[in-house]
Amino acid sequence: MSNKTYHIETLAIHAGQVPDPTTLSRAVPVYRTTAYAFRNSQHGADLFALRESGNIYARLMNPTEDVLEKRLAALEGGAAALAVSSGTAAIYFTITNIAKQGDEIVAANNLYGGTYTQFDAILPQQGIKVNFTPVNDFIAVEAAINDKTRAIYIETVGNPGLDIADIEGYAVIAKKHHLPLIVDSTFTPPTLLRPIEHGANIVVHSLSKWIGGHGTAIGGAVIDAGNFDWTDPKFDLYNQPDRGYHGLRFAHDLGDANPLAFIMRLRTVGLRNQGPTLAPDAAWLFLQGLESLPLRMAKHSENGLAVANFLKNHPKVAWVKYPAFNPLASKYLPNGANGMVVFGIKGGAKEAQHLVDNLDLFTIIANVGDAKSLVIHPASTTHSQLSEEDQIKAGLPPELIRLSIGLENIDDIIGALDDALELI
Ligand SMILES: *Cc1c(COP(=O)(O)O)cnc(C)c1O
Repeated sequence: MSNKTYHIETLAIHAGQVPDPTTLSRAVPVYRTTAYAFRNSQHGADLFALRESGNIYARLMNPTEDVLEKRLAALEGGAAALAVSSGTAAIYFTITNIAKQGDEIVAANNLYGGTYTQFDAILPQQGIKVNFTPVNDFIAVEAAINDKTRAIYIETVGNPGLDIADIEGYAVIAKKHHLPLIVDSTFTPPTLLRPIEHGANIVVHSLSKWIGGHGTAIGGAVIDAGNFDWTDPKFDLYNQPDRGYHGLRFAHDLGDANPLAFIMRLRTVGLRNQGPTLAPDAAWLFLQGLESLPLRMAKHSENGLAVANFLKNHPKVAWVKYPAFNPLASKYLPNGANGMVVFGIKGGAKEAQHLVDNLDLFTIIANVGDAKSLVIHPASTTHSQLSEEDQIKAGLPPELIRLSIGLENIDDIIGALDDALELI
């Protein structure tokens, strides 16, 4: 592919790939290998000394993953990307690639459950304190920032409240305090929203959801906009010599690659020495998913909107949340609001479970972003460890049902919901 700027549908199919030079295979091959041969001793020595770039060992590089990384960077409008073993790993290694013991981050409080636990319970054990603030409460965000703060962390669309983060508002504060803005964009793949265009410095994804799109593999990715200045001395990990990498100072000693210090460090420290490697077969599945991503996101969004409108007008439904109903949608989601719909059934937990149990076609599952329509009653499953009071604080009243609308025919999806509501 030439350097011409193609549209996103074209990039989703072509970016990052040149047909395999040995076989001329049109599809991206799966390189199932643990290591790569050196042509001779000198070649090996040059690779290790970084005098020549090339493959050494598959914990830290793989040609299938290289295509995936280049394609994701192109789709997000970033400078470079790194694929890892899960969305959870993408988040953890992003934070620990910036903050160390004694540092703090400021995060929105409406995060994905697994991320919330990582931030609330795991990072503090490692000496990294997370200050949670209500989403879009910029006064609280400013108040939570101090001289130990090293990053601001948000999700584009929170779960299960489906509120939209005002990314540009966060970006202004991040810039003012010279902090990287990290955005989890899992709920809004790049054909719907590209956080870097709104001021994000780092984008993280769970590839396990809509990007894979078929519920077949776990993976994650980190995309670096390449626009953050890491030479600010408060970022010790970039300005102090790194013992694990022969004294390298990542913000200073990479030459032309200095703007990519973040993603270079993530690969050479995170991936190389902590090991959250993605399997090449999973990378291949995500590449398959990306090829149809623009089409699928349009359909998820069309079906999601139709379901949200159907439920809004149903007499047995108390309330509906769908991102397109949010005033921020015209700015951040002009191409569609995806297939997540959350609603409250009139009554409570009993009625909600009754509906879930009588819902044909939908699978009861703790997952989102599949081609298949999915349903869950969070209060009795994913969030059942919380007290009812804490559930309500987390925005999870007992009557709440979460839908991830798939790609089935919309009449069949709405028909299934209509029938199940009838039985209550
Ligand atoms: C699923 C999810 C994650 C975690 O991703 P895994 O691939 O399951 O580890 C993180 N953030 C959001 C918003 C998610 O939906």
